[in-house]
Amino acid sequence: MAKFRRIGVLTSGGDAPGMNAAVRAITRKALEQGVEVMGIIGGYSGLIHEKLVPLDAGSVSNIVMQGGTFLYSDRCLEFKTEEGMQKAMATCKKYNIDAIVAVGGDGTFRGATDLSVHGIPTIGVTGTIDNDITATDYSVGFDTAMNTVLDAVDKLRDTCESHARCNVVEVMGRDCGQIALLVGIAAGAMSVCIPEVEYDEAAEIAAIKAAKESGKRSMLVLVSEGVFVTDENGNKVPYGEVLRKKIEAETGIETKFARLAHIVRGGSPSLRDRLAATKMGVKAVELLLEGKSDLVIIEDNSEIKSMNIRFALTVDRMYKKKLKDGDLDAFTAEEIEEMKAICAKRDAYIHHLYDMAKAVRR
Ligand code: ADP
Repeated sequence: MAKFRRIGVLTSGGDAPGMNAAVRAITRKALEQGVEVMGIIGGYSGLIHEKLVPLDAGSVSNIVMQGGTFLYSDRCLEFKTEEGMQKAMATCKKYNIDAIVAVGGDGTFRGATDLSVHGIPTIGVTGTIDNDITATDYSVGFDTAMNTVLDAVDKLRDTCESHARCNVVEVMGRDCGQIALLVGIAAGAMSVCIPEVEYDEAAEIAAIKAAKESGKRSMLVLVSEGVFVTDENGNKVPYGEVLRKKIEAETGIETKFARLAHIVRGGSPSLRDRLAATKMGVKAVELLLEGKSDLVIIEDNSEIKSMNIRFALTVDRMYKKKLKDGDLDAFTAEEIEEMKAICAKRDAYIHHLYDMAKAVRR
């Protein structure tokens, strides 16, 4: 067992419901193992600017059900520089922080791997509302975010049904359309547009028109924020707004547009998210105390496991078609095959759900 006297915990990047439940689990598990805990305030900037608070069992009382993150979050550019890293290392030394658990998304994990390389064992716990980390089936915050969207979309359906309207709803998800896709199925959407699947605009609008002609009154269309088109001046325009106009023009159905934006990040975490946060947080501490480092905690077929951070980040770039020259050089042929299998699994899952969404609409 690694002899850590004190670990640090931080939340970084975009916040997600369940981050507090994760910090609570990390703190309590470490204390149970006789390890002290410091909360690092405001993500990596708290490490650079020495903003830390000791956490005891009581410090994390009454937060398991709270949205947001009581440790606050930040996007800290300075941490990406060598100077910033040196300041962070000096803080760890000054406050006797032997290891860190970082809760966040892919940017947070890049920071975590940098810390590990510089000698501070660090493990990441996924906290992102849109489930955009390819390496894990599940990320803390996703279920709550989907339920928030579902609640809003159900309300839009009420008014669409009353007035025989269509509502295009844009939801968070830059490279990952899972919120739009899963909520689209659960809300009974007519059409779903996500970055992962080519959108057959003509066929989708024709389906909306045909549904209207067969008597359907409420039409919901879910679009991920990550889908854009380029206008005549070369500017990127969110596709949801463009689609709204086209649906109205081509079907004659009055069509509204709603952007749910940051409302999707808030709220009390669901049971699913509190459980995932607790399981992942506890696993992170267990692995740190076993002497492991530079890992991200993942869920794979309902099992909590871990994966090397660089491997996980590379799988992510592979899936999102963002691999750069040399990205795969550090990996064996076997590892690259493993990455391809993870991407194929996710791809098959998304396409299966997309086909299902179409099969069950009117
Ligand atoms: P998320 O973790 O939600 O993806 P960001 O991408 O904003 O959010 O990353 C959160 C923070 O992680 C950044 O503000 C920065 O401090 C740190 N970070 C991001 N990318 C790197 C990197 N390449 N190297 C070191 N730290 C990074």
